[in-house]
Amino acid sequence: MSRIVQKFGGTSVADPERIKAVAQRVKRELDDGNQVAVVLSAMSGTTNQLVSYVEEVTPKYDPKEYDAIVSTGEQVTIGLLALALQNEGINARSWMGWQVPIHTDGVHGKARIERIESEELDRRMNNGDVPVIAGFQGIGPDNRVTTLGRGGSDTSAVALAAALGADRCDIYTDVDGVYTTDPRIVNKAQKLDKITYEEMLEMASLGAKVLQTRSVQLAMKEGVRLQVLSSYTDEPGTLVVDEDEIVEQAVVSGIAYSRDEAKITLVGVSDKPGVAARIFGPLTQANVNVDMIVQNVSEDGRTTDLTFTVTRADLRHACETLEGARDEIEYRALISDADVVKVSVIGVGMRSHAGVAQTMFSALAERGINIQVISTSEIKVSVLIAEEYTELALRALHTAYGLDSE
Ligand code: ASP
Ligand code: MG
Repeated sequence: MSRIVQKFGGTSVADPERIKAVAQRVKRELDDGNQVAVVLSAMSGTTNQLVSYVEEVTPKYDPKEYDAIVSTGEQVTIGLLALALQNEGINARSWMGWQVPIHTDGVHGKARIERIESEELDRRMNNGDVPVIAGFQGIGPDNRVTTLGRGGSDTSAVALAAALGADRCDIYTDVDGVYTTDPRIVNKAQKLDKITYEEMLEMASLGAKVLQTRSVQLAMKEGVRLQVLSSYTDEPGTLVVDEDEIVEQAVVSGIAYSRDEAKITLVGVSDKPGVAARIFGPLTQANVNVDMIVQNVSEDGRTTDLTFTVTRADLRHACETLEGARDEIEYRALISDADVVKVSVIGVGMRSHAGVAQTMFSALAERGINIQVISTSEIKVSVLIAEEYTELALRALHTAYGLDSE
């Protein structure tokens, strides 16, 4: 017997028919002799709709009321699934976050789960009953409903799996697993049987939107075994697990990309102590996150160029901030470019293998793709290139690292 938390995303509970199909899937897990708790999202599109209602009433809103409104989508799906399960003769009950309770901090709109009182859920699961819990929500210190940030029901599921000591947390979604790269771009992309937490974290934070990044962090911290799988098929999905559960570790497991990048170059900044602090200080204060940074060696010992990246959404704000601080920073010109993409090769195998970056550089060079900025970490090499080469670069790298399917 295993104890499993099953989480179903918006497309899996998109209408009453789909919800009945979910009930069948839950029933199958019970029939196999397992204990099950279910975590649900709202029907797909519902949360967006709720957010737009809020914004129509007032563009600047009280985050406590925002949470009260946007958390309601999940209340509908958990109730419907509880009914569908009851029709199958299963003792099911719906639970809102506050009813569990799932305690969070008071940061409305992106609250963090602090503690889950799971005793009652635990008791019911031991009984063979099925608790159906609303994802995405909790209750804050002031007794008001909180939400965990968009996509937050993944994090609800992982936190519940940890609290309930589940053997696995199955995340049912509309893709059947995690791929070596975006299969819409590279048709030779392959589904991975297993991927490590660290690799998944890099993939998720680079915009492979299968899992909310925070859910992967939490799973890694709590040692929750995750599985990403489709609610449309019966195929096994991708397991997200600890490194030592993976026998034949590839050097590079996946190639991710993010179009949400923009590049800023400050030309002719003086090359002396304190300049980087004068540039990045105001950006930090303006809440702009800087990602990749390169500084050239100055030719004349006096001035140099400094290039870095920010998210596209932050580009304007970053430029305005730097223009406002021009007198303190002292630079000759500011050049910005939003037509860039960050491509990253990811793999824990890099720790013990040399030459990973070189393979990347030569594959891109062979296609005549210019690398604008490079950054590396222990398990990742990223390059910034012109956006028009995204597809070409992904295909070239996928082949170069031997990831193509036959
Ligand atoms: N319904 C919420 C959203 O759309 C939470 C989730 O689906 O994970 O963001
Ligand atoms: Mg999601």
